[in-house]
Amino acid sequence: MVANKSLLILPGDGIGPEVMGQVRRVVDWFDRRRSVTFNISEGLVGGAAYDAHGTPLTDETMADAMAADAVLFGSVGGPKYDDAPRDLRPEMGLLRLRKEMDLFANLRPALVFDALIDASTLKEDVVRGLDLLIVRESTSGVYFGQPRGVETLPDGRRRAYDTQEYTDSEIQRVAALAFELARQRGNRLTSVEKANVMETGIFWREIVTKLHADSYSDVELDHMYADNCAMQLVRNPKQFDVIVTDNLFGDILSDCAAMLTGSLGMLPSATLGAVDDSGRRRALYEPVHGSAPDIAGKDMANPIACLLSFSMLLKYSFGMDEDAALIDNAVQNVLGSGVRTADIMSKGAARVSTSVMGDAIIREMDKQAA
Ligand code: NAD
Repeated sequence: MVANKSLLILPGDGIGPEVMGQVRRVVDWFDRRRSVTFNISEGLVGGAAYDAHGTPLTDETMADAMAADAVLFGSVGGPKYDDAPRDLRPEMGLLRLRKEMDLFANLRPALVFDALIDASTLKEDVVRGLDLLIVRESTSGVYFGQPRGVETLPDGRRRAYDTQEYTDSEIQRVAALAFELARQRGNRLTSVEKANVMETGIFWREIVTKLHADSYSDVELDHMYADNCAMQLVRNPKQFDVIVTDNLFGDILSDCAAMLTGSLGMLPSATLGAVDDSGRRRALYEPVHGSAPDIAGKDMANPIACLLSFSMLLKYSFGMDEDAALIDNAVQNVLGSGVRTADIMSKGAARVSTSVMGDAIIREMDKQAA
């Protein structure tokens, strides 16, 4: 019997509640079949919270997130909220969670399932078996650096500027986490920056090199310029195990890597914070996709990105690697049997709804656990 684990579920808007419904079934499955009890609370976020409380995230829900071992988030937003005041827009709920939980590392795996190899734009032999992880620094860098703005120069021309900045501790904490994650995988880390043309790039490389020598010399480390990394991701992505990079390069490279795998409906993510005094690391897990208003309410959404986000939660927040693998394998087998939601449909496959995809995955989990 594994000790109780507290989990806050925030389904959000659009397809969020639909895909989260399938995760709830998997959570119940663990309760029934594996004697793992999750202490679950559920809250409103985004447009749903705005409708009920006039704010995209109440202080009470924020406090619940701070108290939980892990937060599982669906998606927020939709055309209904296009005219909401800027500071009350649905995505502000997510931004507040990330900021107050101080979630500084965004983890985006790029995993190619054999059955979906055709969905990739790259050749089969380039992506077959691909399994890489991008760790993006997510609370600093040029998206947050000061000063920033637009000004008019004395001669009348206008000038816009942003500031790229990193402190040593900001680089150390995200790099340390990436080294730890590499140790749990293929033990290889690629640190990505532009040390050829940027001061922050030179500094980033210096800090990562020293951290490696001091604490992680057992992990194989190499350095790569960001432009070369973009090229290598489409040329030979299987050369990578874990990539660590800053906020701006990570934003671009993780989207590039995501498309190697084909569909938005398949992509999970995690955002992690620091380990606190009790040894607990704050963490939020969410599918990469948004609220998909075009298909919301039609029982059409692919629940796999959200299910794989829950699998990441089991692995990274609770160390339940075997249980996470059970979900991943069930997904792999169901896709292999030709069951598909509309977004990943291919010739000869059976097109199913959100809930029937959930049925198939749970049946497969039953089989594996038998
Ligand atoms: P989106 O990810 O919601 O949808 C893009 C396209 O992918 C749509 O055609 C959609 O139907 C499809 N799609 C996405 N997820 C799918 C799934 N699980 N199964 C099947 N098809 C899927 O992005 P968008 O259309 O640019 O944004 C819609 C809304 O979502 C906006 O309000 C946006 O602000 C919000 N959004 C929220 C998040 C988040 O909550 N983290 C992220 C991105 C966008």
